[in-house]
Amino acid sequence: MYKKGPSAAIQYVKGVGPKLAILLKKKGIATVEDALYFLPRTYEDRSKLRTISELGPMEYGLFQAEVLEVDVNRFKGGRKKILTVKVGDHTGRIVCKWFNFSDRYFSDFLKVGAKIFVSGNTSLYNGRLEMHHPDIEPVGSGAAEDKLHYGRIVPIYSETEGLGQKTLRRIMYHVVEDFSDAVEDFMPPSVLGSMKLPTLSKSIREVHFPSPETKVADLCDFNSNWQRRLIFDEFFVLELALSIRRRGIKKRQGISFDVKQEWLDMISSKLPFQLTGSQLKVIDEILNDMRSAEPMNRLVQGDVGSGKTIVAFYAAAVAILNGKQVAMMVPTEILAQQHYKNFKDLFGDFFKAELLISSINKSEKQGIKKEIEAGNVGFVVGTHALIQEDVNFNSLGLIIVDEQHRFGVEQRLNLIKKGIPDTLVMTATPIPRTLAMTLYGDLDVSVINEKPKGRQAIATRVVTEDKRKVVYDFIRTEMEKGRQAYFIYPLIEESEKLMLKNAKDAVRHLGAEFKGWNVGLLHGRMRQEEKDEVMVAFKKGKINMLVSTTVVEVGIDVPNATVMFIEHPERFGLSQLHQLRGRIGRGDVRSVCIMMAGNNPTDVATRRLMAMASTDDGFKIAEEDLALRGPGEFFGTRQHGIPGFRVGNLVRDVDILALARSEADRLIKTDPDLMLAPHRKLRFVLAERFKEKITLMDS
Ligand code: ADP
Ligand code: MG
Repeated sequence: MYKKGPSAAIQYVKGVGPKLAILLKKKGIATVEDALYFLPRTYEDRSKLRTISELGPMEYGLFQAEVLEVDVNRFKGGRKKILTVKVGDHTGRIVCKWFNFSDRYFSDFLKVGAKIFVSGNTSLYNGRLEMHHPDIEPVGSGAAEDKLHYGRIVPIYSETEGLGQKTLRRIMYHVVEDFSDAVEDFMPPSVLGSMKLPTLSKSIREVHFPSPETKVADLCDFNSNWQRRLIFDEFFVLELALSIRRRGIKKRQGISFDVKQEWLDMISSKLPFQLTGSQLKVIDEILNDMRSAEPMNRLVQGDVGSGKTIVAFYAAAVAILNGKQVAMMVPTEILAQQHYKNFKDLFGDFFKAELLISSINKSEKQGIKKEIEAGNVGFVVGTHALIQEDVNFNSLGLIIVDEQHRFGVEQRLNLIKKGIPDTLVMTATPIPRTLAMTLYGDLDVSVINEKPKGRQAIATRVVTEDKRKVVYDFIRTEMEKGRQAYFIYPLIEESEKLMLKNAKDAVRHLGAEFKGWNVGLLHGRMRQEEKDEVMVAFKKGKINMLVSTTVVEVGIDVPNATVMFIEHPERFGLSQLHQLRGRIGRGDVRSVCIMMAGNNPTDVATRRLMAMASTDDGFKIAEEDLALRGPGEFFGTRQHGIPGFRVGNLVRDVDILALARSEADRLIKTDPDLMLAPHRKLRFVLAERFKEKITLMDS
């Protein structure tokens, strides 16, 4: 007896014993439901049978034939075997060969006179057509199970060792046959109607074993109605969650900040440069949000070096002039330090600023927290310490999150809970707009798409080992001109597992190579005071060459550094390389980024480095990165607090995402708490799919 429902364990499916169950678990298939949503990765049209005479060279063909001869030839002293099978139909004959075949091919059914299906690609051998390693199958008894592999559009699943196509197909056949009717459709009829979606059961059936009317090309593109239905379901649930959260935020009472012209004049007079048009536009959007009684929830996207910090400081100043406190959260202590210093340099005469990072000592921290509680501090910049420590603000009015891609949605929301003020998040990871709207579905988006005037483009060069000396000579000349250089390494120290150059060894080697120049070392495992010391020395020009890991990746701003040398660039993601490269090109002299490619780079590695060299546009690089790595890795679902998708693909299915978003908004508008009878099932699905995350939606 087994539980006849989609939640039943997979081994209760007909034909799945304990052994197969273990293999399936490895594929993430533990229950019947997992199996139902384990969709084919592609399809083959095996619905049309051809005849042997119709086959041309180098093409795919499927035909039915009779076995005429079976031969096994041995060569290389009998160690290697070739299986040669001659087959024929009423139009002709063809030879099929299996090189190095294993005896299991030599199955019972491969006997002279047997009727078989043959499917594969033809090749030419001595001017004659042959088929090498075709897929063969006995012409079945007519039972449904035998008709899964031929004479139809055939699903192709992703395989694992021990789980071949035919086994998978057979298992899926029983899963679909026995359980697809039992799946519960949570989609409200109103949505089904307006989206003209097919039923869930039928969609699941068709996706696995498509009927002949479905176009194979659509299936392969994941663009059939059946697939779209399943993708829509998945996105719809996410969008519903986001929509509920968005509403929750909007419902809260925000602060209507005052924005006085004299204040703006004062702030502008403090800035050491003219803001770009793009910065002004974004500041305008932010100030509008701040004036409004609804809480601001805005994302500022801007490529590295586009000048996001000053935009944030501007907003901060307005909030403080309103008598409110501002908290700015950044991912690294170095960056916190830098922002702290810059803020003080700009506004130190007007506002009191404090730095809150975990490495400052306890009593000092206590003092700072007291001051914050008393409302004596206007601006606090810090790392995670800001959320982790029990900091109580006196009147928190604005939260700024810098380099948002480094934080999860959760962390951001934790901070918001501290006082429900306006939030401004900033990121240099550009994401296509439609996607951004969805990933940050609860945010309005502003874009800084212009770099400050006078910036020189960064020249990027990919070089190989034989150019090392030339490169070093070049760096030496740059330093003789008074410039500074970054040297970036993927590892801090030697690793047994990875044969890579590392920062600690590099300090020694570069010290010997560049006699007379000061070499500094910076990495994430140094104590905070040490890091600060090094950064200050580098900023002041006392260190000429800074050897570092990716800790400099975010935010660091030293305009006099004009050279970046990256060792093992293939170890870094594209967007990460772009971030790193963004450390140079910050002044008005030409900067150069040199990437030392390893020997024998793979095609993908080469393509990535070429992409880096050919453009300085963060959006283009992000798109390329997305295309090369796929959305899962690119977004790092964990980082974004977005659940992974079983069926949907954020890039491929972006149009469905948009539809799901508008449908979800429409539904939440009519029934915000999902209380109406047709919507109640959705409550359970939401709770189940987001589990602990559901609490976030109420925040
Ligand atoms: P990011 O957007 O990467 O955070 P930053 O805010 O660190 O960029 O700005 C990069 C550099 O450009 C800083 O040195 C900053 O002072 C400078 N900068 C910002 N805006 C302007 C501007 N409008 N004109 C000239 N320099 C600017
Ligand atoms: Mg920045």
